[in-house]
Amino acid sequence: MRLLVLALFAVSGGTYADSNILGFDADSSAAQKTLEAEFDGLIDAEKMDEWLRVMSTLPHHVGSPASKKNAEYIAELLTSWGYDTEIAAYEILLPMPKTREVELVAPTKFTASLTEDSLSEDPSTERREGLLPPYNAFSRDGEVEAELVFVNYGMPADYEVLERYGIDVTGKIAIAKYGRSWRGIKPKLAGEKGAIGTIIYSDPIDDGYGAGDVYPNGPFKHESGVQRGSVMDMPTYPGDVLTPGRGATEGARRLKRENAPTITKIPVLPISYRDALPLLRAMGGEVVPPEWRGGLPITYHLGPGPARVRMKAEFHWNMVTAYNVIARLEGSQYPDEWVIRGNHHDGWNHGASDPLSGQIAMLAEARAVAELARSGKRPTRTIIYAAWDAEEPGLIGSTEWVEHHADELNEHAIAYINTDGSSRGFLGIGGSHVLEQYLNEVADDVSDPRMDISLKERRRAFLEINGDPKMRSDAKSRDDLRISPLGSGSDYTPFLQHMGIASVNLGFGGEAADGSYHTLYDTYEHFTKFKDPGLVYGATLAKVAGRATLRLANAQRLPFDFRGLADNVVLYVSEIEELADTMRTQTERENEMIEKGSYAAALNPYKSFGPPTMKSPVPHFSFAPLKNALNRMHSAAAEFHAAVTTSNVSSAEINNLLYTSERLLTRDEGLDGRPWYKHHIYAPGFYTGYGVKTIPGVRESIEQREYEKVGTQIEIAAEVLDAVTERLEILTRKVSGESQ
Ligand SMILES: [Zn+2]
Repeated sequence: MRLLVLALFAVSGGTYADSNILGFDADSSAAQKTLEAEFDGLIDAEKMDEWLRVMSTLPHHVGSPASKKNAEYIAELLTSWGYDTEIAAYEILLPMPKTREVELVAPTKFTASLTEDSLSEDPSTERREGLLPPYNAFSRDGEVEAELVFVNYGMPADYEVLERYGIDVTGKIAIAKYGRSWRGIKPKLAGEKGAIGTIIYSDPIDDGYGAGDVYPNGPFKHESGVQRGSVMDMPTYPGDVLTPGRGATEGARRLKRENAPTITKIPVLPISYRDALPLLRAMGGEVVPPEWRGGLPITYHLGPGPARVRMKAEFHWNMVTAYNVIARLEGSQYPDEWVIRGNHHDGWNHGASDPLSGQIAMLAEARAVAELARSGKRPTRTIIYAAWDAEEPGLIGSTEWVEHHADELNEHAIAYINTDGSSRGFLGIGGSHVLEQYLNEVADDVSDPRMDISLKERRRAFLEINGDPKMRSDAKSRDDLRISPLGSGSDYTPFLQHMGIASVNLGFGGEAADGSYHTLYDTYEHFTKFKDPGLVYGATLAKVAGRATLRLANAQRLPFDFRGLADNVVLYVSEIEELADTMRTQTERENEMIEKGSYAAALNPYKSFGPPTMKSPVPHFSFAPLKNALNRMHSAAAEFHAAVTTSNVSSAEINNLLYTSERLLTRDEGLDGRPWYKHHIYAPGFYTGYGVKTIPGVRESIEQREYEKVGTQIEIAAEVLDAVTERLEILTRKVSGESQ
């Protein structure tokens, strides 16, 4: 228990001028830069290569012997470097495939192989001991037989198109392409629309021969490759399906499996494009709209039928143990303030890229930090390194640990820094916008390993050339590059969206193609040949994430800046206003045309594609409460910034008020209909899954045309912003008042 009233003043020489590292005065800024140069020198790509080889030898999904072995290997490394290391184990429900069958029964017969080929060019693919065959975790059990309907990517807009063709998926099996959404959305939506089964396949146009040379000649998807993955309803809650909101410890209260709301309502199986071809070829009905076409050598049809498929999915619903590795390095001055740095260690298969490419960067950082600590440069705050298990089936290891330790984390956690699979190219930065400025500084202080330019400026160049008009103009005129808001898809979700702990997600990408994701082909050979030869970007990731961790661990005053938050929320509010306006004019115009009958005149009379149904008009909403709250936050953020640039006051109390500010953006009751998600600025989309929805309460009630909810949601969003404003006013008083 720490006493917040005890303000430890640390008034030292110099002020926190803009030229220093954010949160450091002149002397400590210089010392930190020296420390970081030393840290860089300790990052060892050869060691990273060795760890990658060892841990990617065999498939290592949660519950497998290889996964447990990897956890022990990571724990041994961390212990040998001097960390206080424990393995935090949780008992979780994990379905393992028992029966998987997909069979075309009419008009012709074909049985899908549902197997990936071993390749002599890649010895890893011949080591299949413990390999999980392709499946989607958290599909329910079931055997169904029905006609196929092609649903494109299986997104809400795709069903609107089907409806206009007069096609109903009720009682049918939906066949959907992978991509454009979190895969779990596909069976969720198909089930809501009445389908009785879902088949998901990767179309070659997206990541197979339609995109480039396929493995082993190139990085793209082999014809037998199948993307495994979870279809748990993570936008409702992630983690163990039986223990929402509670740690899955041995004695924890558990739901009955039949009551677990995040298991799919209909059976799902993933297949390769080699297996999908005969099914799609046998389909009839209308030809798909041009933008729905894929890369297979057939004409794509919508169905329903005459292709008729029988599918059977059965699972062993086992309880397995997830092994998180948790390693602590106690801070020299503020042991009760924790900086948490994590990356998962479980894969679907050999998992060289996902997750080990990020895991080895984290280990390289941990080794370097320990080395520095041994030479007397121990960080002032506690650093916790976490290697999570069971991320793949649904962010389970991290979520259970966070739920289990919620009270301590609420009190002690300053921020969470995440990485996951990474490759090469441009630095991607997602995170809480209070950390935008600090992350820009970090990215500006690390050079690209291939070009003589900082990571920040390389990213700026990329955005100026490739961004949309808004990004291009921002990249030219805005000093700090915007960081992306976080949706979901990796272990930051429980920290940020359940707990309100400011979070960061870092990784390189954009230059290497990815057809190996969650397939047998995500191997050491594939990764080091196509994604990050020499692990040069991996070593750079360690420098970026390591700096990010060390700056939070050593800053005198935590580098939270609220101008970035205000400025980005302004952008989100204007996006939402624009969304409502566009929907309103579009709906008005469409309704008018449908009513007059002129909409039908624009359509091809030889097709069954009809006009949309009339929608209820979109009302005008008052965004005034939100905009007023935003104005208040904007000024408070500017005043706080002015105060911190002229004052060098810092104290444990001020730091506590700073890092707990992100908690103010959450509410205990959570989002409407999904109480586990408590953050009111960032959430994964209910119907997109990975994709972020900013100010989700407001945005989603408009998108889902639930207009009666919008007013209340605007009020709630205004309230959470006002809470931050109030906090900033207190902080400004503390920082300036106490300096006199
Ligand atoms: Zn991953």
